[in-house]
Amino acid sequence: MTYGIKIKLLGAAMEVGRAGILVTVDDKNILLDYGVSLAGEEPGFPLHVKPRILDAVAVSHAHLDHSGAIPLLYISANPPLLTTALTATLSELLINDFLKLSKYYVPYESTELEMMKENMVYIDYDKTFEVGDVTIRFYDAGHIPGSAIIEIESSTSRIVYTGDFNLESSCLLNGADIGPVKSADVVIMESTYAEYDHPPREDNEKKFIESLYEVLEYKGTVLIPSFAVGRSQEILCVLAKYDFDYPVYIDGMAKLAGEIIAENSHLLRNPRMFEKALGMARKVKGWNMRKRIIEEPAVIVSPAGMLKGGPSVFYMEKLMERPENAVFFVSYLIPESPGRQVIETGIFSSPTKKGKVKARVEWFDFSAHSGRSQLIETVRSTKKDVNLLIIHGREEPELKLAKVAEEMGKKAYIPRLGEEILL
Ligand SMILES: [Zn+2]
Ligand SMILES: [Zn+2]
Repeated sequence: MTYGIKIKLLGAAMEVGRAGILVTVDDKNILLDYGVSLAGEEPGFPLHVKPRILDAVAVSHAHLDHSGAIPLLYISANPPLLTTALTATLSELLINDFLKLSKYYVPYESTELEMMKENMVYIDYDKTFEVGDVTIRFYDAGHIPGSAIIEIESSTSRIVYTGDFNLESSCLLNGADIGPVKSADVVIMESTYAEYDHPPREDNEKKFIESLYEVLEYKGTVLIPSFAVGRSQEILCVLAKYDFDYPVYIDGMAKLAGEIIAENSHLLRNPRMFEKALGMARKVKGWNMRKRIIEEPAVIVSPAGMLKGGPSVFYMEKLMERPENAVFFVSYLIPESPGRQVIETGIFSSPTKKGKVKARVEWFDFSAHSGRSQLIETVRSTKKDVNLLIIHGREEPELKLAKVAEEMGKKAYIPRLGEEILL
């Protein structure tokens, strides 16, 4: 059967990054996410859409690959921007930082960010927003605090966009609520880890904690380069869970992100644990403190997660020189990023330093995305006659996931950039 739905991929087609999906249903144009790609040197933007045709924009979560291009839509129009309240604050924080730090031209300014804020409409999980006869609902995606799975319901169909989602609970968040996926006619699904299963969470946490103690007991200092939003708080939460008893410091934008998330702690898996986690972490204030704490057995959690900027670069330059120190990566590392270079070559290079890393180097998988088995479980949970659109992954893994779906008798599409799919 046909539903009269048109879906156009403006980004995230066989690519992790710059998500943008234009859904046309019941004569309404709804844009799901509008993000940037940070994989290359220069930020990449999604395909253009005329902002004035948009009846609504809905953002799944604050990560820049989903939110970073949204201000562009507010240069010439003012569509309502549907978001959870937490995503609203966190995306403002990340977009501001992106504007401030980008070495390249960004085609919007803080004026457009202000316009974007003025048009925000907050939706809590399970609450609805009506666009004509179309109803939009948000569900917990378990990916980062405030993240949402988005459902669009018309008189004839139900479309669900997973955004980035994690089926498994982390220390910080409950696993995704994929209830809406089960009854959807169309599921637009991320596939970042379609080829790979994450190690069991608990084992990974224990190995991480044991490794920290190994370094600290020999008077070393451990740097944990970490994404400011989500991952830094997850790490603090794990340290609190295991009653970690060495000093823990937090630096950079992770400090403010933690405060913002604390104000919305009802969205977390265990608000008490998070309170304990924030209580354990001392905020780094200024350069004197930075220089002092690198001399003591302590853990320093600091952005940027890939060592591309932020205070983690300073810490790395200092701590890399001594074999008793360590750097434990806990975030995804884009190929070619300074962090990935350290893993692959043992060499760290920043604008101010290049050299061999003498400190211990480890990479722990604290991913906030569903792994292969969970993606397959999600596909299995869909209706028999579902239309599955696989996006936000590399081509090869997307093809593999589509094959699994087809073997289950489901229709799977891998949309190309700019392609319009009629369902
Ligand atoms: Zn994300
Ligand atoms: Zn993403």
